[in-house]
Amino acid sequence: MVGVLACIGVIVGSIVAVALSIYLVNVTKGDEEMLNLTNLKLSFTSVIYYQDARTGEYKEYQRLDGSENRIWVDLQDIPQHVIDAYIAVEDKDFYKHHGVNFVRTFAAMINEYTPIKLFSSKQGASTITQQLVKNLTNDKDGSGIDGAFRKIREIFRAIILEKQYSKDVILEAYLNTIRLSNTWAGVQAGANNYFGKDVSELTIAEAASLAGITKNPSVYNPYTNPENNIERRNDILYFMHEQGKITDEAYEQALSEELVLNSEIHENSSVNSYFTDMVIDQVIEDLMEEYDMTEGEATYMLYNQGLKIYSTVNPTLQRAMEDVMSNKDKIYPMTEKTITNDDGTKTTVTPQAAMVSVDYNGGIAAVVGGIGEKTEDRILNRAVDSLRQTGSTMKPIGAYAPALEYKYIHFSKTFIDDYVWMKPDPENPGQEMEWPRNYSRTYTKQPMTVAYAISKSINTIAVRTLMCLTPETSYDFLTNSLNITSLSPEKDVDYAPLALGSMTYGISPLEMAAAYAIFGNNGKYITPYCYTTVEDSSGEVLLETKITSVQAISPETAYIMNRALKQVLIDGTSGGLSPSRLDAVGKTGTTSDDKDHWFIGVTPYYSTASWWGYDEPAVLRVPSYATHPPTLAWRNVMNAAQKDLPSKSFTVPSGVVTAEYCTRTGNLANANCPEKRVGYYTEDNMPIACQTH
Ligand SMILES: [Zn+2]
Repeated sequence: MVGVLACIGVIVGSIVAVALSIYLVNVTKGDEEMLNLTNLKLSFTSVIYYQDARTGEYKEYQRLDGSENRIWVDLQDIPQHVIDAYIAVEDKDFYKHHGVNFVRTFAAMINEYTPIKLFSSKQGASTITQQLVKNLTNDKDGSGIDGAFRKIREIFRAIILEKQYSKDVILEAYLNTIRLSNTWAGVQAGANNYFGKDVSELTIAEAASLAGITKNPSVYNPYTNPENNIERRNDILYFMHEQGKITDEAYEQALSEELVLNSEIHENSSVNSYFTDMVIDQVIEDLMEEYDMTEGEATYMLYNQGLKIYSTVNPTLQRAMEDVMSNKDKIYPMTEKTITNDDGTKTTVTPQAAMVSVDYNGGIAAVVGGIGEKTEDRILNRAVDSLRQTGSTMKPIGAYAPALEYKYIHFSKTFIDDYVWMKPDPENPGQEMEWPRNYSRTYTKQPMTVAYAISKSINTIAVRTLMCLTPETSYDFLTNSLNITSLSPEKDVDYAPLALGSMTYGISPLEMAAAYAIFGNNGKYITPYCYTTVEDSSGEVLLETKITSVQAISPETAYIMNRALKQVLIDGTSGGLSPSRLDAVGKTGTTSDDKDHWFIGVTPYYSTASWWGYDEPAVLRVPSYATHPPTLAWRNVMNAAQKDLPSKSFTVPSGVVTAEYCTRTGNLANANCPEKRVGYYTEDNMPIACQTH
């Protein structure tokens, strides 16, 4: 009987051992690259790439380590007391074990899974080798069975590392990769940033302070939690003294040393572009969501684990945009304005601006979120984060395009240019006003074609078009087909918000650029994105953007709208401001109270939103010399960015027909009509023949 049980025991034991071996071989497949300590110096910088439009090759756009995030230091240049501080607190048997301290691991399990406390938690159970494995693989701690498997993987890998590398190589790798803040790693970056010193100059107390941060870079951060850091520093000094690494005298002196920190703290030496900032924010957000990380973990991974980020930036366009938005050409008048704050104090402000372009794959090709030189990282990006009333740039997407798609209008459909309702006058309480008002505050009271109304931005015609469409249909179109997320379903399903752009919260420039892209992209809407994939240092895909698109309007509607918007830049509200070389269409927008000026421009390569206004909405004083700053800025950016691009035109869908129409009646012209223009139609939505002439 005993023999049988023993037999069964051996069989079960063997099966478990074989299963575990198979498991370990499988999960550690990519380890060779990941745990290659020889290449460590090079492989841990994350890089943002862009795709070269001509060759399709990916090229480097920016390295994310900056010079101060990680500075490699050879072991021989690290003072002994820095090494001692780490070994004393993290792994005092480092030179004795073969990667794993089984006694402490076992004790740690007892500590974790039973009420018995076998040793103080001030010293960790993981060896330096295990911690290095964790830093290199980002295999997180877990609990329960998941945690047990992670531990097994870690132990296995630590043993392998010890077989392959000397203690010195392991220690050097460890000291250069330990996490010391959300962006800094390694003792040299830590010494530079926290103490303003080279690692070779650290005192014993400072070495212990630095070693104390590692356990939890936010809890023991000497800037934000100096008491915690000093307490832990003193524990570490105690261990060093107890283990005979420092003399009594040195111990006493270190304990009494004041914590003196570098006053010029800065996380990065050079300032990132708005595009890089946007990628950083997005990758951190996506890592947190996809891998259930904290912001700190995701940030650390981004800066220190050699990620390869394949972004959508077009560096030529990005540079051109940065150049124009630096405002060295003074396109944007920086007229000062004094505003009174809530507490009665006064602040002087200057206008701000933002610009963002998307390409027709939906990628964000360039973004600048403010005027002037960018002096800090991850600041307000107005192109993405600011919601502003859109004024007349709303008309094409809120009224004309969906009305054309549903065939309520055609290119030269006419409406009478006259007010529609009487409404309470906000400027004269108790009185009524004609609504809508045109920008000129006059009405021709004559039939006016849609094409003309678009080019001259006539409010009455946009409102009458929306009356055919209904605000409900417009709202559905904007939210479902164009993915506009900031309209209020309670307050914005109405004529003023959807035809004239005076919505409750506003829309971001990025959403406007993506929406207008339908006019250059055969009616297809694509949700904008700033990267396609993110790979880890061994080439495994960590994140992938799922590109979502919808055929918002037919290619025919898109092209007919495109032709109507073309007129804006010929003899409309932005007449004469078309960029050179390539075709371009667009729409101006000014809110009725003059607090926001917009231009949204579409070329065969890019759809771009350009906005100008005060951060705290206030009336813009536009000097007479400064007409259309957002349009001029866009034109200059396009001229610079497109000058070397291959010639390209908007695609003409086969279903579009052209015909001459009578400008008086909007109907198909005959020989007697006094003025004719070319209109764009589909066969099933043509005007009748002119009956008047
Ligand atoms: Zn006629």
